Amino acid sequence: MSVETISLSGRKKEVSNKKMNFWESLYLVAIVKGLFITIRHLFTRKVTIKYPEEVRELSPVYRGQHMLMRDDEGRERCTACGLCALSCPAEAITMKAEERKPEEMHLYREEKYASIYEINMLRCIFCGLCEEACPKQAIYLTKSRMMVKSNSDRNDFIYGKDKLVMPLEQAINNSKVKMAN
Ligand code: SF4
Ligand code: SF4
Repeated sequence: MSVETISLSGRKKEVSNKKMNFWESLYLVAIVKGLFITIRHLFTRKVTIKYPEEVRELSPVYRGQHMLMRDDEGRERCTACGLCALSCPAEAITMKAEERKPEEMHLYREEKYASIYEINMLRCIFCGLCEEACPKQAIYLTKSRMMVKSNSDRNDFIYGKDKLVMPLEQAINNSKVKMAN
């Protein structure tokens, strides 16, 4: 077999440079063929959806916006151990640890807590390894469809505790639901 006739896909076609006859030069057959292809596609299954009126069902393994969790008493679970930052392949997480004061017992569950906890959303690839690494079940990737809001300032993509920590009301509601069950 010569090199010219090898086709990996099996769809290779030789292009003919022969001179067109009168009927071919009118392109009528080519136009009808093209229309037939268009009409055929009207009856095939559509892969597009009318977003935002229609939304796709999320995959069971979908990972959205991160959340720093609170326990049943509303205290932050994170102890600033740094394992999430170490396991992050994108090096997107930074934090600063501080020691809890006696009067802060109601705020933080452990003796050490993250006074600063930041995720650079421009780096994050939503792999979920931070969640896997956390020994305190303090960080979760939620099912939120809104992953990262668009913005024109790079600094606004660094999410701090104001955006990441679970709202207190949500923690209280979760605890009420648990008690009711
Ligand atoms: S989801 Fe992955 S990339 Fe994003 S912060 Fe967590 S470990 Fe890093
Ligand atoms: S989120 Fe978890 S792994 Fe990350 S610093 Fe806090 S306790 Fe450690």
